[in-house]
Amino acid sequence: MSIRVNQYEFDCAKCKVHLVLLDYDMKCPNCNHKFTTLPRDKRLFKEHAISTMMYYKEQHNMYRPLGFSIGSRGDMMLSATYDFFDFLEQQNPDDDIKFFDEYIASFKIENKKSEYLRKHYKEAILPVLQIYKNEGFEKYLKKIRDNQPAKKEEKVPDIAQLDREKLKKRFEKLREKYLKETEN
Ligand SMILES: [Zn+2]
Repeated sequence: MSIRVNQYEFDCAKCKVHLVLLDYDMKCPNCNHKFTTLPRDKRLFKEHAISTMMYYKEQHNMYRPLGFSIGSRGDMMLSATYDFFDFLEQQNPDDDIKFFDEYIASFKIENKKSEYLRKHYKEAILPVLQIYKNEGFEKYLKKIRDNQPAKKEEKVPDIAQLDREKLKKRFEKLREKYLKETEN
């Protein structure tokens, strides 16, 4: 089973290519335009990647979940990340970075116009690899969770209360109708 994550995706204001949020002050991998207004309350790709990877790994010992469906550029990027880390742990190479460069180089890009995707993927997955090698996923996730303000508890109206509100509204409508009728 895979969980749905909604990633923040946007188009470059200058060259219009479709991108995934990697960093709040990232540059366009195609035209080098520097973004300055990316929403800071949206989670970055690496956070989505690491939190889902930890979850899947615990569930079935693989980063790539079974039946992972791809519906967006962000999903494609996650998919490439899961594959890379499963491959990395399976191959256990001496040089992780060299292994990563080879992985990125192996991507088949359909046309020259889309070559920026290679750079986009590289800039997406490399920070995840650095976290993996340095502090580790678990520590990283704990750090994000600790830095995030606790979510405000949503108030869920209880059903009895809801029904009373409904009845009250219905009663008020009937009363209005009654008053109008008696006025005439
Ligand atoms: Zn651009």
